[in-house]
Amino acid sequence: MYTPYKHEPLTDFSIEKNRKDFEAALEKVNGLMGKDYDLVIDGERISTEQKIVSINPANKEEVVGRVSKANKDLAEKAMEAASESFKTWRNWDPEARAGILFRAAAITRRRKHEFSALLVKEAGKPWKEADADTAEAIDFMEYYARQMIELAKGKPVQSREGERNQYVYQPSGVAVVIPPWNFAFAIMAGTTVAPIVTGNTVLLKPASATPVVAAWFVDVLEQAGLPKGVVNFIPGSGAEVGDYLVDHPKTALITFTGSRDVGLRIFGRAAVVQPGQKHLKRVIAEMGGKDTVVVDKDADLELAAQSIFASAFGFAGQKCSAGSRAVVHEDVYDQVLNRVVEITKAAVTGNPESYETYMGPVIDQASFNKIMEYIEIGKQEGRIVAGGNGDNSKGYFIEPTIIADLDPNGRIQQEEIFGPVVGFSKFKTFDEGLEIANNTEYGLTGALISNNREHIERAKREFHVGNLYFNRNCTGAIVGYQPFGGFNMSGTDSKAGGPDYLALHMQAKTISEML
Ligand code: NAD
Repeated sequence: MYTPYKHEPLTDFSIEKNRKDFEAALEKVNGLMGKDYDLVIDGERISTEQKIVSINPANKEEVVGRVSKANKDLAEKAMEAASESFKTWRNWDPEARAGILFRAAAITRRRKHEFSALLVKEAGKPWKEADADTAEAIDFMEYYARQMIELAKGKPVQSREGERNQYVYQPSGVAVVIPPWNFAFAIMAGTTVAPIVTGNTVLLKPASATPVVAAWFVDVLEQAGLPKGVVNFIPGSGAEVGDYLVDHPKTALITFTGSRDVGLRIFGRAAVVQPGQKHLKRVIAEMGGKDTVVVDKDADLELAAQSIFASAFGFAGQKCSAGSRAVVHEDVYDQVLNRVVEITKAAVTGNPESYETYMGPVIDQASFNKIMEYIEIGKQEGRIVAGGNGDNSKGYFIEPTIIADLDPNGRIQQEEIFGPVVGFSKFKTFDEGLEIANNTEYGLTGALISNNREHIERAKREFHVGNLYFNRNCTGAIVGYQPFGGFNMSGTDSKAGGPDYLALHMQAKTISEML
């Protein structure tokens, strides 16, 4: 028997011992900077001349690691390895597959701060954000392992007299796993272990900004006893390796998390049946968001301001769930806006290696440029009331920025900026507030801050998002508690960390026998 699932506790850094332990981990990880990492294909380590260089976004001079880069030939070799190992892995006892996840979770837990310290370096995450990312990675392993044990029993179906019917799940085949850099550990690990625990084999192409944490995790899986060829590690260019594997006739499943544009490209390409392909590919695509915190007239305004702040600026707004729009009733608009400005101006920003830092850098030069361009657009469309400046001399730092008085249909309120920028718009009636909340092409998360029970009940039905929160921030979904995934252009609503997720990686089979 396994203990029931509960989520990994977050570290309380107000306790001195925890701070000291984390500092020790940072020091250890400092000594591991700049190392080379290999590809892993069929358990074999392969070093290539071409490397992806992972750098610290808070300090561009610091190389976190150099990771070998796969090309099409190596991607093909990995596909052959994954196809071959599928023949045996698919037949493993599901409980034994789950056992590997339990062991990988235990190994990660023992090295928890080390992994989080790496995320501070590689993704520019402040301590708390890094700690939450690692905890979520552990949660995915613990949760999916238990879910698989349940799923292996099949689901009940009726049988008539004289027959026996069964409804069971079988693995699909080779899964191509394409994660983003923003939950560099959690989403990468979650989208890797879900296909493997369900009996598929994996080609893992990590995000190019954060390949080192993925290389570390592949080591953990190996230590946990994963047979060779089940996960093949092939960092590479999205355009070259990504397209090649998405198009590949042997690909059964693609599990992608990232931007809308790349997601749509993958969705379209995967639909094209290639010569020699005998099946339809299944695509899980979790994409962007333009998430709204709605503040009602009758609301706790301090809670509203704190919720807007946390939703907008946690991890510099680089979350698909980030509340990048605050939509506030006109009667309380000025009060809420002023309070958010006050909180924002007091927030400590800068080097994420320092315990005090609330917000660190954005991920890279391209993000920095894109966000600064949006801030310029914001100056035309509205009024900058906090922040607005960037400095990329040492790392990619942008001030937490608030843009007020925006048209909800303008670019700032419609397009995903993916940075520390929140736009404020006003509404007159609750109907109008809901209409604005629903007026983007996305539908990922949202929050309503309200003391009006009727409005809360209406929002449950009419606020069209995959993850809806009341009287709190709209970020921070927990595996097993708030399954995660969005509507509309936010994706296929796969609900990662939820009870339906693993079945998406499998094929249900009905077996009927006359007695
Ligand atoms: P991205 O789309 O740029 O990249 C995601 C992954 O796709 C990377 O591994 C990248 O190398 C790969 N890729 C790029 N081109 C490809 C191609 N042609 N074929 C195959 N793969 C290709 O996204 P990102 O910048 O890494 O992440 C940020 C985005 O992810 C944001 O839009 C954010 O909202 C979204 N996101 C969504 C969720 C969710 O659960 N809905 C979670 C996290 C992030």
